Order: sequence, then C-alpha cells, then structure tokens
Amino acid sequence: MADTELNRLGYRALAADTPFAFECVQHCWGTCCRNVHVRLDPFDVADLARGLGIRTGEVLARHVTLTAGAGGWPLAMLTEAAGGPCAFLQPDGRCGVYAHRPTVCRTAPVGRALERDGGVRWFFAKPHPSCAGCFAGAPEHTARSWEAGSGLDARSPHAEAYERLAKAVEEDLGFAAWASQQIVNLAVTYVFDIDAWQAELSLVLADPEALRRGREAAWSLLEPVAGAFGFGPQRGLELDAGIAAGYAAALEALRGGVTSA
Ligand code: SF4
Ligand code: SF4
Repeated sequence: MADTELNRLGYRALAADTPFAFECVQHCWGTCCRNVHVRLDPFDVADLARGLGIRTGEVLARHVTLTAGAGGWPLAMLTEAAGGPCAFLQPDGRCGVYAHRPTVCRTAPVGRALERDGGVRWFFAKPHPSCAGCFAGAPEHTARSWEAGSGLDARSPHAEAYERLAKAVEEDLGFAAWASQQIVNLAVTYVFDIDAWQAELSLVLADPEALRRGREAAWSLLEPVAGAFGFGPQRGLELDAGIAAGYAAALEALRGGVTSA
C-alpha cells in the first residue's frame, strides 16, 4: 500500500526503531474491540480453535466472514468485530480469548506489511478515534520492541508465509482473472481448515506442520490450474490436465510428499 493511501487511512509510517508513546488505559473498557475489522490469518484461526476447544471448521463457520480481496484471494475477517462489540469482548472490557487473540489484536497500534522483496514496513495506527492510549508521558516503545513483547515469535513466520502465498497467488498466478468459487473454496480449506483435511486423510499433525502443508497444497493446486488459464510458470497446460495435476499435487502436499515450505 502506498504511503499516501496509508496516510489517508490514518496510518503513520514507522521505522523499526522510531520511538512512539503509547499505553492501553484500563478505564477504556475495550473501546477498540467495538466496530473494528480484525483480519485473520490461518494461524489465528487454528489458535482460536485450540483456545475455544473447537475445530478449525467451526471457527470458520461461527466467527469468520470471507470476503473477496482486490486480487481475488479471500480476506478472512472476524465476523463479530465488524458491526458491534466483538463476540469475545467481556462485560468488564477484557478479551475473552486473550491468550489466543488474533495477531492484529496483539500488535495494535503497530501494524506491519510485507514488501515484495521480503522486507517489512511498519506503521502506527491509533486503535480507535477515541483511544485514550496516546498521551504525553506514556511509555515509549519502538515497532521492534512492541512486536517482541506481543508474543508473535511463533506466529510471525506463518503470517509472513501466508502473506507471501496470497501475494504470489494474486500477482504471479493472476488469480482474479480465472478463479472459480470451487477452486477458491478448496484452496481456502487447505489453508484455513487444517482440521478438516487432516480428518479426511486420517492425519494428526502439529499445527505448524499442518499450516505449512496447507499452504503448500494451495499453491500446488493453483499453479497448474493457473497454467491452464495462461498464467504463471506452468502456462500452456490443457485445462483438464491442469486441474488433474493440481488436485494430485495438492493431495501429495497434504500427505507430506512435497518438502518445500
Ligand atoms: S481504544 Fe486504546 S486505550 Fe482503549 S482499549 Fe483500545 S488500545 Fe486501549
Ligand atoms: S479478539 Fe479480543 S482483542 Fe480482538 S477484538 Fe475481540 S475482544 Fe478485542
């Protein structure tokens, strides 16, 4: 996203070590957990499932709204956060899934965006127009120190790998030009609904490995299908051959037959 667009949305670019003053104040009662848009990645969905003691498919059905992104790859948004208090917001203003809260909720007011070359851009955005957390004398942080304190160590590699996948699908495979709902649904299942395909294939994997295989399967499915539509490195395949190759490669990836991350 260009700097002008970030500025229009109220974001301020932040160098990794530029100090900013911020402290979430206790008397605010979760103002920023009302009427907010919380974007989820597959790690968030799996972590919410573990925290709530339900399956990833139930999290998707109960708590996630999928909307089409500009490049065709779906955006997964926390459903309840869109039109009122988040379903997980407690009467006392605390988060009911605090230990399993999504990445966006952990990093606010700092956000990060992945560059095409793999670099990271940071930005600062007030969590809510009436957020009382930015005040003179509030403790100083930097984007780097804030992220280090947000419990992102396990999440960041998955968040970045997922973002890279979505970008590559949209930009390298021209996804928006040819994706059918059926293909979108299947790719989303591989990436987000890791419990569903494991049950289908009688697999019981640790979440990080399941998330990795899900991403690999989505790419393995989409690359030859894109090729059949004239996009990406496998351009020139016949449609039937591309679809058959995609299904076979995806299945192999889910079963662990493909080792690239
Ligand atoms: S609006 Fe600001 S002060 Fe209030 S809960 Fe959110 S981050 Fe904290
Ligand atoms: S998941 Fe928790 S932190 Fe995030 S919006 Fe909902 S109540 Fe707030």
